[in-house]
Amino acid sequence: LLQLFIPLNALGFVYREIRQALVNVERLFGLLGDKPTIEDASDASELDVNGGEVRFENIHFRYHKDREILKGVSFSIPVGKKVAVVGASGAGKSTLARLLFRFFDVDQGRITIDGQDIRTVTQHSLRSAMGVVPQDTVLFNDTLYKNLAYGRPDATEEEVKQAARLAHLDRFIHTLPEGYETRVGERGLKLSGGEKQRVAIARVLLKNPPILILDEATSSLDSVSEAAILEALNEVSRKRTTLVIAHRLSTIRDADTILVMDDGRIVESGHHNDLLARGGPYARLWNQQNRSAEDSGT
Ligand code: ATP
Repeated sequence: LLQLFIPLNALGFVYREIRQALVNVERLFGLLGDKPTIEDASDASELDVNGGEVRFENIHFRYHKDREILKGVSFSIPVGKKVAVVGASGAGKSTLARLLFRFFDVDQGRITIDGQDIRTVTQHSLRSAMGVVPQDTVLFNDTLYKNLAYGRPDATEEEVKQAARLAHLDRFIHTLPEGYETRVGERGLKLSGGEKQRVAIARVLLKNPPILILDEATSSLDSVSEAAILEALNEVSRKRTTLVIAHRLSTIRDADTILVMDDGRIVESGHHNDLLARGGPYARLWNQQNRSAEDSGT
């Protein structure tokens, strides 16, 4: 019986691992289907995380040989700090996140975490160190509880509920007649964009990774949801090395550093107030967004 039990148990483990990987990768940045396979180096070691400092050193990258997307990008995110990347659509912001996750290898330069080139460590150890809050969170056809617990399948009920509270989901859950047992996903209750994002935040809180990638939703939320999400995001990014791919500037005013990208290069960097005072590309983006917010009456 024991012999039968062990492989089944192992299968269950593999299944959970795969689902876990899917949760974390969540159609990651809209990429499934066209990514080349990245393989671990034969002598790959485990990533040894010591705080989680991230460095991009002179990164050049192209998806296809005829078009360079990143043209020499360098920046670092000190341990526990938050760096936000802004810029026009197509500037290369999400590409930075994909490279950090090692969906692709860089053509030139290197990305390091605590001094280790990410090409020299196992993908499993690399991705275990990172949490992602994607633009569009995938929910499984299962209960809300199970969807939250995918963040860490061995979490206790108290831990799952605590994560839901920190992600500002508990009030919403209490309005559901079946609470945590409500079925969600394609065949269940459809959650709003903001609610789904909070599920992703709760999952990250459970996973508790030292490094966080936030790919901010492009769609604008009503101001109540936005405030709740901002609070939840602040909760999840506290004390983690965080890379925010930002579409709305209002949400990243508190970032330690803001990088402004244009056509594959960082053209400006600094704090919100300094960048505004400088009157350059960031100030222009800021004025543009504020004008369109006024025009649409939000
Ligand atoms: P947005 O704000 O619209 O999300 P972004 O700044 O995040 O834009 P990226 O997604 O990094 O931009 O894309 C940068 C450029 O790379 C774009 O011109 C895009 O067309 C191209 N690109 C992105 N993904 C791929 C891919 N898988 N294959 C080929 N080209 C791609």
